[in-house]
Amino acid sequence: SLMSDLSDTEPFLLAKGGRGGWGNQHFATPTRQCPRFAKPGLPGAEADVTLELKLLADVGLVGFPNVGKSTLLSVISSAKPKIAGYHFTTLTPNLGVVRVDEGTSFVVSDIPGLIEGAARGAGLGHDFLRHVDRCRMLVHVVDASGCEGRDPVADYETVRAELAAYDPALLDRPQLVAANKCDLLGDDRGPLDALAAHLGPDMPLFAISGATRSGVDALIGAAAARLQTLPPVRIFEADYRAPEPSGGRAEDLTVRHEEDVWLVEGPWLERLLGSVNMSDYESRMYFDRMLRQSGLFKRLEKLGIQEGDTVSLYDCEFEYVK
Ligand code: GDP
Ligand code: MG
Repeated sequence: SLMSDLSDTEPFLLAKGGRGGWGNQHFATPTRQCPRFAKPGLPGAEADVTLELKLLADVGLVGFPNVGKSTLLSVISSAKPKIAGYHFTTLTPNLGVVRVDEGTSFVVSDIPGLIEGAARGAGLGHDFLRHVDRCRMLVHVVDASGCEGRDPVADYETVRAELAAYDPALLDRPQLVAANKCDLLGDDRGPLDALAAHLGPDMPLFAISGATRSGVDALIGAAAARLQTLPPVRIFEADYRAPEPSGGRAEDLTVRHEEDVWLVEGPWLERLLGSVNMSDYESRMYFDRMLRQSGLFKRLEKLGIQEGDTVSLYDCEFEYVK
């Protein structure tokens, strides 16, 4: 479950520090000049959490490895991603800012190679698919030249299947398709036409070449226009509720007393107190209930506690009334 979405600049308190203890001076009274006890503070909260970095980009470049995503990012922005003629050169997502015209720009992220099985954890893809989550739209880059002996239509479907396996909602993410490496097509428009036929008239297709920059401006313009119609990056709702701390048994607590002060300690009490908010009524009532259920007051009575004595539990202290 999700504890917090840290997309904005609001601080989030994940684990609260402990509260201080009291020295024996705290327990000194005119008749008890040198109390033999002090009490410890409460430890800070502990939590095992997973921090997930999700890049915030307007446009995510997705596609099979080696189709030219990094090259495209480098020609449309000043980002300098690694480019090479072998798969998986991009091991971390790259971000680039694309300036469309005076005052208009958007952020593009180059999402590293999706491969078959990535959504099931094979290869590198899975790690990167989460970055796609936050993209307002996708540009699906396909190698239209088939220069590595691959079929653009099959590649397109493989990547779509990977996206769907990670999260079916990704298929509904607004998308443009960029048929890249068109400089290699020569006179054979076959692969491009096949892809266009496969996508149908409703999916915008741009024939481009990252190498020669042909068609790139039209793609950028279309992406910018589409972004204008899209909502801002989605902020996720936290759905994590901290579990209610539970109480325990009075027998598991240690009780020390000197004159009219009763000092009670024990792990479950410490945990309970650490999570109780004494300035909140509900929380205080819950705490009270847990103490009663534990049998603590019965035990103190057996030990001889008197009305008006002080019960001291870590950083909480109260006068005992029957
Ligand atoms: P990525 O894995 O999708 O990021 O692909 P890269 O950008 O690293 O490019 C893979 C290879 O394809 C590199 O050798 C690029 O030089 C080459 N390449 C990229 N775009 C084009 C293009 O438009 N035309 C041609 N001919 N080669 C390209
Ligand atoms: Mg790359």
